[in-house]
Amino acid sequence: MDGRYDGAHAREMLSEVFGFDSFRPGQEEVIRAIVDGSDAFVVMPTGAGKSLCYQLPALLRDGMALVVSPLIALMKDQVDAARENGIRAAMLNSAISGADRSEVERRIRAEELDLLYVAPERLSDGAFTELLDRVRVAFFAVDEAHCISEWGHDFRPDYLRLASISTHYPDAPIAAFTATATKTVQDDTIERLRLRSPFVHRASFDRPNLFYRVRRKENAPSQILDFVLARRELPGIVYRSTREHVERTAEALTEKGIAAVPYHAGLDPDTRTRHQEMFVRDEASVVVATVAFGMGIDKPNVRFVLHADLPKGMEQYYQESGRAGRDGDPAECELLYAPRDAQRARFFLSSITDEEERNRAERSLSRIIRYATTIACRKSQMLRYFGETGNEGGCGGCDVCVGEVRPIDATRDARIVLSAVYRVGQRFGARHLADVVRGSRTQKIARLGHDRIKTFGAGSEKPATYWRGVIDELVTQGYLEQTEDRFPILRLNRASRSLLAGKVNFEVSEYTARSEHNRRRTPSLKFQPADADLYEKLRALRRDLSSAAGVPAYMIFSDRTLREMSARKPASPGQLRTIYGVGVRKIDRYGAAFLDAIASFRGA
Ligand code: ADP
Ligand code: MG
Ligand code: ZN
Repeated sequence: MDGRYDGAHAREMLSEVFGFDSFRPGQEEVIRAIVDGSDAFVVMPTGAGKSLCYQLPALLRDGMALVVSPLIALMKDQVDAARENGIRAAMLNSAISGADRSEVERRIRAEELDLLYVAPERLSDGAFTELLDRVRVAFFAVDEAHCISEWGHDFRPDYLRLASISTHYPDAPIAAFTATATKTVQDDTIERLRLRSPFVHRASFDRPNLFYRVRRKENAPSQILDFVLARRELPGIVYRSTREHVERTAEALTEKGIAAVPYHAGLDPDTRTRHQEMFVRDEASVVVATVAFGMGIDKPNVRFVLHADLPKGMEQYYQESGRAGRDGDPAECELLYAPRDAQRARFFLSSITDEEERNRAERSLSRIIRYATTIACRKSQMLRYFGETGNEGGCGGCDVCVGEVRPIDATRDARIVLSAVYRVGQRFGARHLADVVRGSRTQKIARLGHDRIKTFGAGSEKPATYWRGVIDELVTQGYLEQTEDRFPILRLNRASRSLLAGKVNFEVSEYTARSEHNRRRTPSLKFQPADADLYEKLRALRRDLSSAAGVPAYMIFSDRTLREMSARKPASPGQLRTIYGVGVRKIDRYGAAFLDAIASFRGA
């Protein structure tokens, strides 16, 4: 029988196997619960370190731990990474063929494995469960556990099979892990997995290393280019809503010399897998993708996630943007917002026939629209959505809190717009109104005689983009109605009248610098390694080793590990062991190569 949790021993293994000197918040409590034989339900945001919470107990408890995981690609990466740390790990899924499968089965029977990753359907395969009955099972870990809930955003029918684990293996603890935060999904998942009074750990959803920002979408293609070009060499994800946009954006970036690959459900599976691998292996720096991309990507050094179109909801945005900065280093999440996108999304939702589903989708959409349009701390808004209290004093990690965006009074300009809407008879759209207010001599204006109305040219000193912005914000804040036609027109409502009557004031957000902005604001992400030349040299070495070993570079050593090495220049295996992420196995395999490189750099 297993002993009780021994903290000193666990920390020893943490250092020896993983090369880390302390637990992250929550990890030790979860590990203790599993080692002591309790079920557990763990909600931790992306990058918090969930894998360690089951990989370490797999070494501490007798028998083989089973990890249920939804995606084959993810499984392979996890197994490779675990092996790199010297953990005896293997996997069984539909991609494993005859001979390899027999070998894994042999190792299971011989009790030679600490950790076995399986796809959910494996658990209803008779031959496999018979095999399991003959060996010691340490515990079950269910990764991405929210996939069992139909309330979540990536429900997988295969996951429903997991309901039977607790009846079939009454003695094995079950630990469920997810980064999906809503309480509904939590309760539903615990119930469906039939967890037995689980130890529940809910981490904060704050991601201190992520910087959040919203920009008004004026010209997506050029804004995307500016953004990515200002972050050349940095790995990032650009999300777009349609396949055509994905393709076009990827092409535009490629033309500018960025190694960008497209990813969407319309590409054949081989191309998709290849593009994903290129990104994970740092061969492509940017992936332009629909939301089909992302789950099961454990790439730790994603430095930015740019949404050029509106996400479906707050939860989705949190998950998608949260793929940045898993490694804990600074990363940016930016959303380009245009009211048109909101309108289109609303229009799309109106076609959902199931009323309950439609209402849910609408609520979820309203939240992300409010997030994008309210000038209030982005992180507090997000955390409140997940039921946490935000950092109202200013988070220091969003455009609002650092003063990139400020509310400015635009009451007078708003009145100009509203009065123009009235005077043209509430029959025209935003572009025409902006032309009227600016006093543009367009054919349409001449033909309609709109150059004779009182507000024609009342705002000639400001550019059209400004006026489009004011109109967008009037619509967003409810001071102006925009019809949902193919050519939407603007109409007044009750709120417009109180604004015209001088009863309320109107504020717009001021982007302290517009398109120049992205270009300027990058320094936080330029990591200056103490010794840049050595760092580059170590990176090249890592690249060679990774292609020789056939694993992504980050599995050999993380960027942070290389930065620490180039700063501290260890001269012996003992010194190397004190560096972040360097465990015993890594020293055996790669220690000599890195120590040699550092020594020859010193000597040079
Ligand atoms: P999650 O599955 O929760 O998204 P991962 O398990 O992929 O996160 O871990 C994210 C990163 O954090 C990995 O690079 C991992 O090596 C690192 N990590 C995990 N635990 C620790 C720790 N105790 N100390 C330092 N780094 C850690
Ligand atoms: Mg994970
Ligand atoms: Zn903030």
